[in-house]
Order: sequence, then structure tokens, then C-alpha cells
Amino acid sequence: MQHDANCIFCRIVRGEIPSRKAYEDDDVLVFHDIQPVAPVHLLLIPKAHVATLYDATPQHAGVLGKIMTLAGQLARENGAGDGFRLIVNTGRVGRQEVMHVHVHVVGGGEPFGPMIVRKGP
Ligand code: AMP
Ligand code: ZN
Repeated sequence: MQHDANCIFCRIVRGEIPSRKAYEDDDVLVFHDIQPVAPVHLLLIPKAHVATLYDATPQHAGVLGKIMTLAGQLARENGAGDGFRLIVNTGRVGRQEVMHVHVHVVGGGEPFGPMIVRKGP
């Protein structure tokens, strides 16, 4: 499986860095975010290294589709049964910090504010 020795999420996949796992199968790992922004904050990642959504190809369609179909089940199982958001920060403008594709599942508290705060007058 494709991995990057310097990637923190690849290191989590390989068990070199500990994580609080919520789900695992052959090609997907789900763990709790270390700095949660909501009562439920999960990270769903492909086990294979894909740096950003810019790098995703049809070859990744299966695992990315699986992540989407797992999101609701995992949100519900972990205490976000009344709605949640999926966030995939990408690149500089998206303020992606970890360069291994990850889908945030956030929820479990009060309804969020607007999706993106409008700037300007
Ligand atoms: P992003 O800004 O979308 O790249 O989000 C990266 C996320 O990874 C942040 O929410 C971090 O809190 C989270 N994170 C970074 N290191 C770890 C770690 N070792 N275990 C769990 N979550 C992490
Ligand atoms: Zn990686």
C-alpha cells in the first residue's frame, strides 16, 4: 500500500503514532481528531497515502466513496445522530494542514453557523 514515511496520518495507519480508533477495514481508518472542534470530531482517511483531493484519481473512487457511505453510520454511532458536517480542507486556500486526504465528520452539539462566513460590507 502506498505510504509516505514522513506523513503523520500514514504513521497513524502503520501504528507508529497512537490514535483513538473508531473504525478500521482494509482500506479505511477512522479515528478521533486530537483537537476536536465539536463534541464529535472524527477523521476518515484512506489507508493509502493520497496527499490532497487534487491528487485523487479514478483509482481512488472506491475508497473515497466508501468513506462517504460510512460517514452517517459513524456519526450516529459516535453521538452525532442529529446532523453533522463533512469537511475536506484542500490546499492553501482550503487551509489543509495535514497532507493526507481526510474527511472531517463534525457534529454532536448545537447547530453550526453558516458554512462559510461572508466577508466584506
Ligand atoms: P486539516 O486542517 O483539514 O488538515 O486538519 C488536520 C486535522 O488533523 C486537525 O483537525 C488536527 O487536529 C488533526 N490532527 C493532527 N494530528 C493528529 C493526530 N496525531 N491525531 C489525531 N488528529 C490529528
Ligand atoms: Zn499519508
